[in-house]
Amino acid sequence: MSGLTVTGTTITPIAVKDPPLLNSVGVHQPFALRSIVEVHTNAGITGLSEAYGDDPTLANLRAAAAALVGLDAFDINGLGRRVALALGQVTPDSPTELVGAPSVAKTVASTVSAFEVALFDAQGRALGRRVCDLLGGAVREAVPFSGYLFYKWAGHPGQEPDRFGAALDPDGIVAQAKWLVDTYGFGSLKLKGGVCPPDEEIAAIRALRAAFPDHPLRLDPNANWTVQTSHHVAGELDGVLEYLEDPTPGIPGMAAVAARTSLPLATNMCVTSFEDVPDGIAQGAVQIILSDHHFWGGFRASQKLAGICETFGLGLSMHSNTHLGLSLAAMTHLAAATPNLTYACDTHSPWQTEEVIEPGAVRFVDGTVPVPPGPGLGVTLDRDALARLHEQYRECGVRHRDDITPMRVVHPDWTGKRPRF
Ligand SMILES: [Mg+2]
Repeated sequence: MSGLTVTGTTITPIAVKDPPLLNSVGVHQPFALRSIVEVHTNAGITGLSEAYGDDPTLANLRAAAAALVGLDAFDINGLGRRVALALGQVTPDSPTELVGAPSVAKTVASTVSAFEVALFDAQGRALGRRVCDLLGGAVREAVPFSGYLFYKWAGHPGQEPDRFGAALDPDGIVAQAKWLVDTYGFGSLKLKGGVCPPDEEIAAIRALRAAFPDHPLRLDPNANWTVQTSHHVAGELDGVLEYLEDPTPGIPGMAAVAARTSLPLATNMCVTSFEDVPDGIAQGAVQIILSDHHFWGGFRASQKLAGICETFGLGLSMHSNTHLGLSLAAMTHLAAATPNLTYACDTHSPWQTEEVIEPGAVRFVDGTVPVPPGPGLGVTLDRDALARLHEQYRECGVRHRDDITPMRVVHPDWTGKRPRF
């Protein structure tokens, strides 16, 4: 093979329909944004990835893309240098899907990730090998995912009810869990909390425990509880939950909760970059970190995080935002090649009714996603779907993720301020 050099990129923002999933900030908009990244090479091979699709992300991707022409597709370190140089002068403006304070490092990391995934896809296609083989080899050929439960309205205000139905109490959550387990075979369950008063969410977890005695259960209120409320819930659910995710804001707050419970605490909010890791560990704030290649900086950065977790005796799980099959394929390859990623990964997949890749390559089997067998990520873009979803992006008017404004349609005084309980 005579080199694999980047000749250009195509970045296509898309919008996909999203149901009214509730969380501590508010409610999902009718459309979620993603971008599809294509990195073209001199060999005629194109690498693919999926990233956030909000305006700050698109500006960063476009600024960095111009600097990638001529890059050796195997030079991932060179990618990092070029992106850092291209974005080094910009004011840090975190993509709106990210949490925590914006920083140049996080902006660079999320931008590197979008291209790094596409470069690995191109490498795999050129070599005839799967991405997981390039990441050290698969230690599991099928990656377990957890069923992601959400409180939700029957439909967006002013629209017909969606196919999923309402879930606003323990019975609704259990019914939703039965649908997810029956349809996908999920072997563990996670409830997005921070929506209802905490005692109602405790009741929902107890109802899930009764209905699914053997399923590991998680609760994630997205930092919507005070330390005091977190102590109360942790006391009630110690021994019931597999882990409690981000009960309260910030490393000191999480450390105060951790100090009085044996329930493991997990985070994708207070430790979200390598800058946060030393403090998080020193204060004993968390026992499990949720990786996410989209914001930790790609596959190799996520494996570096895995090494840190292994060294310091922390657990490793995986976070998700609303995503499509390209991201699911990337998450699956990464998880397959990360030995200590032993918790089932999060995924929003069941909530998406539109797709941008050809069907068949990425599918759920008994609550797992088997690693796609084809070279690279093993998935193919559905060009018609890409064009349709881009047109939907052009027409829908959504350009940032905003869970607060749509909540104000129903609750005019809603602020989204946390902690609320
Ligand atoms: Mg979370």
